[in-house]
Amino acid sequence: MKIAINGAGVAGPALAHWLLRYGHEPVLIEKAPALRKGGYIIDFWGAGYDIAGKMGILPRLLDLGYQVEEVRFVDAQGQKSGGFSTEVFWRMTGDRFTSLQRSDLAATIYSTIEGKVETIFDDGIASIEERPDHVHVGFDHASPRDFDLVIGADGLHSRVRSLAFGPEKEAERFLGYCVAAFEVTGYRPREELTYVSHALPGRQVTRFSKRGDRTLFMFCYREKAPVPIPDDDAGRREVLRREFTDMKWEVPAILAAMENAENIYLDRVSQIEIPRWTKGRVALIGDAAACVSLLAGEGCGLAMTEAYVLAGELAGAGNDHVAAFSRYEERMRPFLDAKQASARKFASSFVPETSFGIAFRNWMMRLMAIPQVANFLVGELNDNIGLPEYEAAYPERSHALPMRMPAAKTSAPPSTTWKVARRKGVSI
Ligand SMILES: Cc1cc2nc3c(=O)[nH]c(=O)nc-3n(C[C@H](O)[C@H](O)[C@H](O)COP(=O)(O)OP(=O)(O)OC[C@H]3O[C@@H](n4cnc5c(N)ncnc54)[C@H](O)[C@@H]3O)c2cc1C
Repeated sequence: MKIAINGAGVAGPALAHWLLRYGHEPVLIEKAPALRKGGYIIDFWGAGYDIAGKMGILPRLLDLGYQVEEVRFVDAQGQKSGGFSTEVFWRMTGDRFTSLQRSDLAATIYSTIEGKVETIFDDGIASIEERPDHVHVGFDHASPRDFDLVIGADGLHSRVRSLAFGPEKEAERFLGYCVAAFEVTGYRPREELTYVSHALPGRQVTRFSKRGDRTLFMFCYREKAPVPIPDDDAGRREVLRREFTDMKWEVPAILAAMENAENIYLDRVSQIEIPRWTKGRVALIGDAAACVSLLAGEGCGLAMTEAYVLAGELAGAGNDHVAAFSRYEERMRPFLDAKQASARKFASSFVPETSFGIAFRNWMMRLMAIPQVANFLVGELNDNIGLPEYEAAYPERSHALPMRMPAAKTSAPPSTTWKVARRKGVSI
């Protein structure tokens, strides 16, 4: 089948990968002029980690990853006021955990299909007209084309979702925060493999030292209502200056560094909740379908899992998209509902609203030094979703892709994650 996929983030290329393996002809459409670089760091584990293993990309991801060792909360003077060791995440996932740039994950997935899947950059699906045996698709720039199926993998603010399922405001559940991220070169001080974070009631600024003398800054602040987000860097700087200007610690220096930063990420922290993810010949995956938000810390892995299941169900149903779409929803929805509910529970304590809340959080974090308490507070991290082995079930429909993995960057030494995994003999 010819399948248009709007969005070349994490979900889109992952779906293209699996569709290609089952002999389909996916076409990726991405509004950005090229794959995005840099940006925020994601934690990566669970079902998505297992799917990455099936895709043959784990060694590369572990090379690109950071083995974060500590989350440290500091006061206005930079003195440690709380925090915890990330050892608990390793323990709870059986060492199947890493942290890496979202853009590195997306690019690594894309590298498995590069040159084999038509990708149209700088464009987007602008209209969807369903006909009895195909979908007529209009683009922002390219001429219209016909496809068998259309998939929206275009993130939280999905255009495909708005076109086929209804307006965003009816799908978005705002969780009461906005989040921003940007990076700069040459910032000092640096602390390797440590998130350093300073909070005032309702506001938090975090820095993380990356390779190549880059530093990532993340801002999170409470908002009562889903405020509009400025389109450009200038407008986003203005918002961050306004929200954080009176904070101490390194915040004045960070705001000064922001003046020369580009590609400032700023968005509402929201989930997407819609009654159906599929309609006729159109389906949604990733954040477009059921964004869990950064509070779940697993959106990328979940997007990859949805891609794996959607492509596998299409193969299993012999390309009967009606049956496949319905099985995809049945299999994934209870799992995603639970992930969304657990992220919502965490929302109230993510950035405490009062000084007492911050002090209480810091005190609780000290208890994380006791392994049993840490295990209890972090909770179950393994995704017991029981993913089918679609390729083994339908071997005649799958074609292993000869992977053309890029060589590991010589400039970046293998991460500690990789070394620890090797030392411990962990299967990757
Ligand atoms: C600050 C922050 C921290 C996070 N931390 C984690 C974490 O620790 N772990 C984790 O797993 N997840 C984390 N997430 C969530 C994770 O980034 C998302 O869940 C994941 O990227 C979803 O993948 P996706 O492919 O569905 O969407 P995206 O990655 O958003 O990709 C969507 C793609 O569609 C493109 N697009 C958008 N509109 C159009 C259009 N109209 N036409 C064409 N293309 C379009 C975009 O340019 C983009 O390339 C975090 C998110 C944020 C904001």
